[in-house]
Amino acid sequence: MFNPRNPRFKNMKRMKPRIAVFKYSCCAGCEFQLIFFQKHLLETLKAVDVVYCKMLKSGGVEAGPFDVALIEGAITEEWQASQLKKIREASRYLIPIGSCAVCGGIPAIKNSTDELDVEKRVYADTAFLHSVTAAPIDHYVKVDGYVKGCPMGERDLDELVISLLLGKKPVFLEYCVCVECKLRGAICVLVAYGEPCMGPVTNAGCGALCPVNNRACYSCWGPMRDANAKALADQFLKMGLRKEDIFRKFTEFGQPTDEFKPGALT
Ligand code: SF4
Ligand code: SF4
Ligand code: SF4
Repeated sequence: MFNPRNPRFKNMKRMKPRIAVFKYSCCAGCEFQLIFFQKHLLETLKAVDVVYCKMLKSGGVEAGPFDVALIEGAITEEWQASQLKKIREASRYLIPIGSCAVCGGIPAIKNSTDELDVEKRVYADTAFLHSVTAAPIDHYVKVDGYVKGCPMGERDLDELVISLLLGKKPVFLEYCVCVECKLRGAICVLVAYGEPCMGPVTNAGCGALCPVNNRACYSCWGPMRDANAKALADQFLKMGLRKEDIFRKFTEFGQPTDEFKPGALT
C-alpha cells in the first residue's frame, strides 16, 4: 500500500492531484460517464491533472506516479494483470470504477462456460490469445474503495472527487438498495407484486432507480457486503423461480462472488 517514504512519491507535493484512468475488458461506459456525464467535469478538470486517460487524450504518462488510479473493466488477459500490479505500485490510491472492475460485471458472464469454448465462439484463430477467467480488480491488487454501478453512479463518483480534493477518505454507502427504496417511499415490488427483486442483497447508490419505477432490481450495483443471499434465494424458490433462473440472477453482474455464492448455488 501507499508508502510516503517511497522515492517514487517524493516529488508529488504539487497542488493538483495526478489522476490516471485505465481501461481493461468492458464496454467503456464508465469512462464515458466519467468524461461526458459528470456534473462537475469542468471544475474537476481545473482542479486535477489528468495524466493518463485514453478516452480524453492520446499519449500520457503510463508509468506513474499517480495520486489516484481509476480502473475500469475486468481483468481477462494476463498482460492486464501484470500491468495492473505495476499501476498499484505507482499509485497512492487505486479505485475500481463500475461493476466490471468491482465484481467482474458483464465480462464475468463467460466464467460459467469453458474458457476455450468462449475463445472459439469469438475468434477463428485462438493461438494468439492468453485469456483468463474474468476477475474483478481486487482479485489481483489491494484497492482503496469502490465506485459501484453499471455504469458507475454519480453519488459515489462525486464523493470520490470531492474527498480527493479535500484530502479526506471517501465514504461509500454500505447498505442495500431496500434502504434507499424505503427512503424514497417506493412500493415494494417484491411484496406487492411478487417480483423477484435483488434489492435486499444489492449495494445502494443508485437511489433505488428500478423499484421507484415499479421494476425489480437486477443487481447492477453488485453485492452488498454481508448480504444474506441464501435467504433471498430461498424466497425466490418459494415464489416459483427455477434454480437455473436463480443462478442467473446472482451472476448477471459478476462471477458468483463470495457474497452471492450461497444464493447462486441454491
Ligand atoms: S460497469 Fe457497465 S457501463 Fe461500466 S464498463 Fe462495465 S459494462 Fe460498461
Ligand atoms: S422493491 Fe426491492 S428494493 Fe424495494 S424494498 Fe422491495 S425488495 Fe427492497
Ligand atoms: S435498482 Fe438495482 S438494477 Fe436498478 S439501477 Fe439500482 S442497483 Fe441497478
